[in-house]
Amino acid sequence: DQVKIRTALLSVSDKTGIVELAKALSEHGVRLLSTGGTFKAIRDAGLPVTDVSDVTGFPEIMDGRVKTLHPGVHGGLLAIRDDAEHVKAMEEHKIGAIDLAVINLYPFEEVRAAGGDYPTTVENIDIGGPAMIRAAAKNHAYVTVVVDPQDYPQLIQTLASNDGQTAYAFRQKLAARAYARTAAYDAMISNWFTEALDIEIPRYRTLGGALSQEMRYGENPHQAAGFYLTGEKRPGVATARLLQGKQLSYNNINDTDAAFELVSEFFPENAPACAIIKHANPCGVAIGTSLTDAYKRALACDSVSAFGGIVALNTLLDAETATEIVKIFTEVIIAPDVTDEAQAIIAAKKNLRLLVTGGLPDPRSRGFTAKTVSGGLLVQTRDNAMVEDLDLRVVTKRAPTEQELIDMKFAYKVAKHVKSNAVVYAKDGQTAAIGAGQMSRVDSARIAGLKAEEAAKAMGWAEPMTRGSAVASEAFLPFADGLLSMIAAGAKAVIQPGGSMRDEEVIAAADEHGVAMVFTGMRHFRH
Ligand code: 5GP
Repeated sequence: DQVKIRTALLSVSDKTGIVELAKALSEHGVRLLSTGGTFKAIRDAGLPVTDVSDVTGFPEIMDGRVKTLHPGVHGGLLAIRDDAEHVKAMEEHKIGAIDLAVINLYPFEEVRAAGGDYPTTVENIDIGGPAMIRAAAKNHAYVTVVVDPQDYPQLIQTLASNDGQTAYAFRQKLAARAYARTAAYDAMISNWFTEALDIEIPRYRTLGGALSQEMRYGENPHQAAGFYLTGEKRPGVATARLLQGKQLSYNNINDTDAAFELVSEFFPENAPACAIIKHANPCGVAIGTSLTDAYKRALACDSVSAFGGIVALNTLLDAETATEIVKIFTEVIIAPDVTDEAQAIIAAKKNLRLLVTGGLPDPRSRGFTAKTVSGGLLVQTRDNAMVEDLDLRVVTKRAPTEQELIDMKFAYKVAKHVKSNAVVYAKDGQTAAIGAGQMSRVDSARIAGLKAEEAAKAMGWAEPMTRGSAVASEAFLPFADGLLSMIAAGAKAVIQPGGSMRDEEVIAAADEHGVAMVFTGMRHFRH
């Protein structure tokens, strides 16, 4: 069960903590073997260390591509210590046992994230490191393998309290971690290739990530959860800097992602925009003459639901807007950047989380989304279609006015980010009402209409904002009933994909009411 560590091989790209570890190992009388750069670091610290080339009798060759790929190393890692044949082979070939392997890999992920060019990225694929990690982990009955500087303190402590030995259970856990590490590493490499070569549906799909945050719980308190970073360089919740407030919860991350992806559909060069999200659905989206105006108009759509929401902005958060946002309880603000003044205003609300991303994700860029089903992984390309790029077809007798067309596109953009069935009413760059997540499209249309009436009452408006609005449906209207419900709410113009068996019936109903309707030919289901 217990194995005394006599010889260790240290080969690390990230040299963090390596000297301290080498020192602790030396104090336990462990013989240290090491590769070029690691060897230098340890030797420069004045510790005894042997170059692995002296063990293999082979120099590092081909710019370090081949350093440790040698039977002298792999035999030492893989030999079964109490197998007579293995012991004989070790003696015959003068292979010394290696009891501990401390390895971390070439920084492929960092190079990829930094946007390294093709040859540089390829050169940062570690070969010898993963080979040693996998060999050591396979032989965990005898060998301890450490792949992460975060694990050094525990190793040092174990050796100190356990007379320079490690226990089987400890080695088992490290082996499990080691294979997770090499699997995630290869996953990143394969994902990079998939991206670089533009392969949409590869033969095998890997999802690799490194734990960036262990959460207290998942969607619910009885569910365990973690947030893993895949290395994708998309400005957003995964790569943002948290400027204040406690760490985001599982639901916060999910909602913040939805909020920021939605607001990024509105380019700041056109107008400042704001999206307020609750439970992954928007409860208000607007553009404005200023960011403050955009926020106020987004809030007006459903100020009741906005309580405890996530606010996403498409441009620099200024003091005036910050002052407005802190007036009600908000969970998270996410923006490309923030002024010092605005940050100081937010600071008064200790629990309000403020995230800055440094930029906006490109809504047209490719990428993948994934979810698990029992026994499977469902992967699809990101919905990167934008209404501006579609050929809109007027199908009614009345063509939409210029303003109606603008409102339609706005509503359609928002509908793309609303759970199906989605019905979104909009007017003058502002959502008037949002119907989300109903199993019947008529219900989504009706609920949104009702909410608009309630909002009008609460705010003391003469009429609901849906009066004279444009309305978007993210999928086709299968019957005229949904349309009639939209018209009852006051919609004057409708945008929808079209393509139903009963399009004629729906068009006729629109004509009868003098409503303008446009077909996009593209659906935006979101489940
Ligand atoms: P050093 O800085 O010590 O010269 O190199 C350490 C790095 O080399 C580690 O990241 C380790 O995984 C990697 N490495 C060790 N042996 C080999 C090998 O034979 N081939 C390649 N490509 N990398 C190796």
